[in-house]
Amino acid sequence: MERELILVRYGEVFLKGLNRPYFMRALVKNVKKAVAQDGADVWLHDGRILIAGFSDIEACAERASRVFGVHSVCPAVEMEKENFNAIADRAAEMCRGLKGTFKVAARRSDKRYPMDSPQINAEIGGRILAACPDLKVDLHHPDHVLNVEIRDSAYLYVRVIPAVGGMPTGTGGRAALLLSGGIDSPVAGWMLAKRGVQVMGVHFHSYPYTSDRAKEKVLELARIVGAYCGGMKVFVVPFTHIQMEIHEKCPEDYTTLIMRRYMMRIAERIGKKNGAQALITGESVGQVASQTMEALGVTDSVVSLPVFRPVIGFDKSEIIDLARKIGTLETSELPYEDCCTVFTPKHPATHPKMEKTLEGEEKLDSDALIQEAIDGTETVIV
Ligand code: ATP
Ligand code: MG
Repeated sequence: MERELILVRYGEVFLKGLNRPYFMRALVKNVKKAVAQDGADVWLHDGRILIAGFSDIEACAERASRVFGVHSVCPAVEMEKENFNAIADRAAEMCRGLKGTFKVAARRSDKRYPMDSPQINAEIGGRILAACPDLKVDLHHPDHVLNVEIRDSAYLYVRVIPAVGGMPTGTGGRAALLLSGGIDSPVAGWMLAKRGVQVMGVHFHSYPYTSDRAKEKVLELARIVGAYCGGMKVFVVPFTHIQMEIHEKCPEDYTTLIMRRYMMRIAERIGKKNGAQALITGESVGQVASQTMEALGVTDSVVSLPVFRPVIGFDKSEIIDLARKIGTLETSELPYEDCCTVFTPKHPATHPKMEKTLEGEEKLDSDALIQEAIDGTETVIV
């Protein structure tokens, strides 16, 4: 009797001392959710997370490897430990096709087992050498490690698939991500989500200047990032009226900045109402006029929540590399218009002054505009 299972290894959660059970519970819950579509069972056993009962081990392992908090996943087989001969044969079979060097790493928590770890290593090592002519033993820097664990059953695995790492979603508080259709903000949201933060999206939509397809694109980005962290709630805020008012009444070189301040105000209102403890944006110093030091300062001063900008020190090319790795790049590069590009001034102020910003904003009926936008907000769960 044997069955296939996936052994889930976790990284930093391991370091959490007394809080560890809390992190482990969150991790197990998130792994369960991620592989629910595989019809798989997930359970905690002997301090490790096991998955079994899937129909396609590769697809299931891939999904588990995208859960934050998972360090690596190992496709394994579980066998009865009594028949050592069968275990050694199965080990040799798992190594078939591998090239380079290997070692066997046996661990025995069942101390009554008739063989000790060095004996198991030697026996199985010999069996592998005989079956795999392309493999040589290297005990110090092997290319492959055949792991054998003797517990209540025997567990064998050789493949270790690296996973995303990070911390389990939900253990790092909540934050509202200002999500545009660009490359930067999905990456920024992903980075905080990776640290266990439950991220909600706030998107400003300027219908009819921006199309429904532009909105769909943003929801697709939220879906891709959400796949790592158990989904995402996105608030789609109608922004056209505010933009028109700014465009009409504020100094042209300050329109982008003032628009950004309204985005922050509204995101904070929506965020706070939904338990957010911080805001996230995809800004990076010097990328555009609204991302100079002065402009970032003027933008921040309108909210009281902390504003996190995880890509602040990244070059565009570094952000692009990460977007590619996460899987958002292709969608971000679709050419639909964005609300910022529609109303972009020719010469935005790069060294904005606070007084002039406030002077511009005084011409607007802020409270009413913000309330109107919030009342018109649509909530989408992706
Ligand atoms: P991105 O920065 O996501 O690539 P972008 O470069 O078009 O998009 P910027 O003009 O650089 O956007 O805006 C800076 C930040 O402001 C974005 O990273 C995002 O957090 C926020 N933002 C811009 N436009 C929107 C929008 N329409 N809805 C929500 N947030 C937005
Ligand atoms: Mg940007």
